[in-house]
Amino acid sequence: MTRASTSATAADQLAPLLRDNLRGWTAYGAPQLDVPVQLNTNENSYPVPRVVIDAMVQALAKAAPGLNRYPDREFLALREDLAAYLTRTEDLTLDAGQIWAGNGSNEVLQHLVQAFGGPGRTALGFTPAYSMHPIIAGTAGTTWIDGRRGQRFDLPPESTIAQIRAIDPHLVFLCSPNNPTGTALPLDLVEAVYDAAGTAVVVVDEAYAEFRRAGTTASALTLLAGRPRLVVTRTMSKAFALAGGRLGYLAADPALIDLLRLVRLPYHLSSQTQVVARAALAHAQVLLAEVEAIKTQRDRIVVALTELGLSPVPSDANFVLFGGLADAPATWRALLDRGVLVRDVGLPGYLRVTAGTPTESTAFLQALAELGPAYRPLQEQETR
Ligand SMILES: *Cc1c(COP(=O)(O)O)cnc(C)c1O
Repeated sequence: MTRASTSATAADQLAPLLRDNLRGWTAYGAPQLDVPVQLNTNENSYPVPRVVIDAMVQALAKAAPGLNRYPDREFLALREDLAAYLTRTEDLTLDAGQIWAGNGSNEVLQHLVQAFGGPGRTALGFTPAYSMHPIIAGTAGTTWIDGRRGQRFDLPPESTIAQIRAIDPHLVFLCSPNNPTGTALPLDLVEAVYDAAGTAVVVVDEAYAEFRRAGTTASALTLLAGRPRLVVTRTMSKAFALAGGRLGYLAADPALIDLLRLVRLPYHLSSQTQVVARAALAHAQVLLAEVEAIKTQRDRIVVALTELGLSPVPSDANFVLFGGLADAPATWRALLDRGVLVRDVGLPGYLRVTAGTPTESTAFLQALAELGPAYRPLQEQETR
């Protein structure tokens, strides 16, 4: 028997064993291609700075002899540092009891779904938003419901509230600034969603909060007091240039966090993860200076795309969604042929590009300008 037929038989035998609600699913798979300009997963393009590397290596050396022991299951020192960081940057007071963390914010989202979703329960989100929200909800057996957005991917308050009332979900997912559109939600909408959501847990995914433009909305963290069903998730994957370190977190009422302890695996945050994240937090200033540089590139990309006759969506994140393309998949391919990897998020006529270094922005914009006949702005699409 050849290897191929063996594995086909194994696949045939295993397929019926899969849980019913996972049949026909495909695994999350943003391409990880080794091309010169990688602008497809909203990573921070800047390598970890030397001073932060040194702090991480020192912290790891100090922690290494103790790896025979399980890590602090409550990762208290890390939670204190995260609370101090939010307190310092968002003009509010949080303490460690209001903080929870996991291996990426994907894991804290999973904890939320495990605790408040599951079979027989529903989660509501508003597509296009973060593609992992429905996947994480679904893997726990939660029924996912796609809410409707407005013409320009906005969330008109009246229809948003009406949908929440009609569906009466157990979990509501908001994303602000939203991925893939880049737009931040006004705080009064978050408040209105919370009030309309009855007994649902309302999750505001703020993975890109640090990239907000000056003067746009404040963080939903400022709404936490007196709202025990509200959760705000954050990550160190983007602003802190730590996607490989896997550290995401949330802030919520300590009573809600107590329920998350029921579903987390014991010792889920390794000692290495804890010390590496703390070393990065101790150098928040250095890392956040790079965030400012990235915001400059983001704004530059918006201006340049407009000059090319395309329609970028105003962005409060480290990426730009732009429309007006006659054929987005063909444009994606043509850019890749020129060594520039962007993201086709599946919206007809649109692509998403991450803002990285000045050199990367130039490479992307030059490649796009060179395409000429390979893309053609559709004027009628812009005015919709
Ligand atoms: C990138 C991203 C995350 C981050 O996930 P991690 O697991 O923390 O790396 C979370 N939410 C949104 C909306 C994102 O775009």
